[in-house]
Amino acid sequence: MTKPQSWEARADEYSLYGFTDLPSVASRGAVVLTHGEGPYVVDVNGRRYLDANSGLWNMVAGFDHKGLAEAAKAQYDRFPGYHAFFGRLSDQTVMLSEKLVEVSPFERGKVFYTNSGSEANDTMVKMLWFLHASEGNPQRRKILTRWNAYHGVTVVSASMTGKPYNEVFGLPLPGFIHLTCPHFWRYGEAGETEEQFTARLVRELEDTIRREGPDTIAGFFAEPVQGAGGVIPPSKGYFQAVLPILRKYGIPMIADEVITGFGRTGNTWGCQTYGFMPDAIISSKNLTAGLFPMGAVILGGDLADRVQAAVEKIEEFPHGFTASGHPVGCAIALKAIDVVMNEGLADNVKRLAPRLEEGLRAIMERSEHIGELRGVGFMWALEAVRDKATRTPFDGSLSVSERIANACTDLGLICRPLGQSIVLCPPFVLTEAQMDEIFDKLERALRKVF
Ligand code: PLP
Repeated sequence: MTKPQSWEARADEYSLYGFTDLPSVASRGAVVLTHGEGPYVVDVNGRRYLDANSGLWNMVAGFDHKGLAEAAKAQYDRFPGYHAFFGRLSDQTVMLSEKLVEVSPFERGKVFYTNSGSEANDTMVKMLWFLHASEGNPQRRKILTRWNAYHGVTVVSASMTGKPYNEVFGLPLPGFIHLTCPHFWRYGEAGETEEQFTARLVRELEDTIRREGPDTIAGFFAEPVQGAGGVIPPSKGYFQAVLPILRKYGIPMIADEVITGFGRTGNTWGCQTYGFMPDAIISSKNLTAGLFPMGAVILGGDLADRVQAAVEKIEEFPHGFTASGHPVGCAIALKAIDVVMNEGLADNVKRLAPRLEEGLRAIMERSEHIGELRGVGFMWALEAVRDKATRTPFDGSLSVSERIANACTDLGLICRPLGQSIVLCPPFVLTEAQMDEIFDKLERALRKVF
C-alpha cells in the first residue's frame, strides 16, 4: 500500500474524526496545524487563522503564552507527575485546591480533580449517588438537566447532555430527565412574555419533581450559559426562580462552569454574572487555559461537609483517575488563574465585551438572514434563519452554519457552526484590531453564503 503524501490526506487516512462534519472536511480538507501566535493558529502550509473559537473555548490566553509554558516546564523539571491517592499528593495540588476555594463563590469548600469536564460531571453524579445512599436515600438517583445542555461524552455526562445525536448510542440512560431549554427567542410561545416563559419552565421543573417523586432526584445540573447548545443565556429571572424550587425539595444544584468559569462571561463565574449560588461547581477548559487536560469538582462548604461525612462513614471515597491532581496540570492551573485574573485578561473581556456585542449586532442588522444575536462577555452566537420575521430555520444537508464556517475558514477565520448558529468565543487576549478582523471576515463570509 502506498502511503498518502499530503498532510490532509494523511490526516484523512489515519484519523477517525470526532464531532466533525465529514462533508465539510471532504469539500475543503482537514486543517493541519503546527503552531500558534496569540489568538492565531498556523497550518502546515503557513496559513494563519484567527481562532475565534479559542481552540474549544479553552485557549483563553492564546496559543503561545510564555509564562504558562514556563510554569509547565518548571514543574516538568521539578516533579513531572504524581497522583492524589493513598494520602500522597503534590504540593502544587494542595496549593491549587486552596486557590480554587479562594476564588470560588464559596466561603469554604473541597476540590476533587479529573482529566476532563466529562469526567468531572461523572464524578459529581457518583458523589451525589454516594452521598444520598450514605444518608439513607439510595433511591435518590435521577438527574435533572435541560435540552440543549452539553455536559460531556462519557456515558453519564452524555446522558446529561440534551442533544438528539446521543440517540445513536442508545442514550440517555434511564433516569436522566431533560427539561425545556430556557431559550425564549426559540421556545417562547406566541403572546408569551419572557417572564411568563420563565414561570412556565419553573412550573415544569416543579411538576416534574412532584411527578417523579422529590425523594428520587439526586441533583440538578445546569450551565449558567448553555455553550455547545449554541450559546444560550438563561431567560430573565430563570436561576432566581429555579433555585428556591430546588431548595424546597432538597435537590443540590450543580453549576457546570466548564466554559463559563474563569472570566468568559465577564465575571470569574457565570453564576456570579447571573446572580445565583450553586452547591457545587464543575470546572475544566479555562482552568488550565487549555494547556493541560484537567477538570475539577469544587464542592461548596455545606455539600463538602455532607460528602466528607459520607466518606468518613466508610473511611474511603472509592473513586479517582491516575492523573487526578497531576502536579504539572496544577502548576499550569495556578499560573493560568494568575494570568487570567491578575494580568488583565479577565479585565480585557469586561472592557471589550460591549464592543464585541455592538459589532456583531451591527452585522446581524445588516444581514437578511441573521435572526438573533445572543450571548454575554466573550461568548456569542448569531442564529441563521431563512426568514427573519417568522424565524423559520434553513434546511439542507450541509447546514447553512457549516457553510458560513467554511467560508470563514477560507478567509482565515475559525468560528464554530452549532446547529443553525455561528459561535464566536475568542481568546481573552484579543485586541480591538483583531476584533475588527473578526467582524470583517465574518461579514464577508456571510455575503459569500447568502
Ligand atoms: N461541560 C461543558 C459545559 C462543556 O462545554 C464541556 C465541553 O465542551 C464539557 C462539560 C466536557 O468537557 P470535556 O470535553 O473536557 O470532557
